[in-house]
Amino acid sequence: MKEIVDPLLGWYAKNKRELPWRGDRNPYHIWVSEIMLQQTRVEAVKGYYARFLERLPAIEDLAAVAEGELLKLWQGLGYYNRARNLQKAAQIIGQEYGGSFPEEYELLLKLPGIGEYTAGAIASIAFQKRVPAVDGNVYRIYTRFFADGSDITQGKVRRRIRDEIGDVVPEGHPGEFNQALMDLGASICLPNGAPLCGECPLAGRCLACRGGTMLSFPVKPEKKARKIEDRTVFLLEYEGKYLIQQRPKKGLLAGLWEFPSEEGKLPLEKIKPLLKGWGADLDEIEMLGSGKHVFSHVEWHMLGYLVHLRGLKEEFAGGFVLADLDEIQNKYSIPSAFSMYLEKIL
Ligand code: SF4
Repeated sequence: MKEIVDPLLGWYAKNKRELPWRGDRNPYHIWVSEIMLQQTRVEAVKGYYARFLERLPAIEDLAAVAEGELLKLWQGLGYYNRARNLQKAAQIIGQEYGGSFPEEYELLLKLPGIGEYTAGAIASIAFQKRVPAVDGNVYRIYTRFFADGSDITQGKVRRRIRDEIGDVVPEGHPGEFNQALMDLGASICLPNGAPLCGECPLAGRCLACRGGTMLSFPVKPEKKARKIEDRTVFLLEYEGKYLIQQRPKKGLLAGLWEFPSEEGKLPLEKIKPLLKGWGADLDEIEMLGSGKHVFSHVEWHMLGYLVHLRGLKEEFAGGFVLADLDEIQNKYSIPSAFSMYLEKIL
């Protein structure tokens, strides 16, 4: 493994990506960017990152911001617990570390939402600690480099790879080394499709490249199929405002706001009796069409209706908030699962 260090650092010096969070070694910047980058592409993160830091430029601001505003800043990135954990960790850093980031990998690991990869990234990039930051990119590079067919979803395999990478993180350049692996995985040793071995600094020593077996690695067992949930979504409009409700505090999209919905894909003829049964005073119903949203374990297959209400009876509206379009856009966090319907009314 040691022999990858020099070629990798040499390649990184010439080819590193210019990213907004790489302008300094501020641990807050590195942390926020790494959490946003989990499950989200770099290009998509850039705008969120800029907005987030403009509103919350320092860790104290993150610790103090109201949860509703925090979730609004996060809206569209998904996996909202990441935002909640960011805030919890910021509060702990304020209370237990006087507002300064702990520098040690083990201490970082104790903070909510910070796993081994993120702790490694912060400790090595911001504080020059000799620790690895191993994510899917690195498992892919490693298993291709050694043509290693171990199942990388297994904890013991991951630990072994992390330990081996950890042993060769170079003194004096741990941050560059880890970022070089991140960049190589993002731009050369690509995840879906053929890697660009002709441009890779490791090509001469890479076993998968020599054997032409790059696409056989990494080995992962087949994923379980996602559960499909059919839902009928109602945009209930009254005098230019819409009825929204808050989701339960636990579970999928916890605490976010949504348009009311009903299980199943209901045809128009079943909508009227259903809504009347809820106590709605109906005027007109428009179809908004089908939509799909994919979560990690579930897919929502949706059918949407825009329902204009003639009146709003207290017993019907009781569980909802009546929000205008400005509030829907700027105050309440509505998950991107509903964007295709939101777009139709904005
Ligand atoms: S030579 Fe090809 S397969 Fe091997 S690490 Fe480089 S890009 Fe990946």
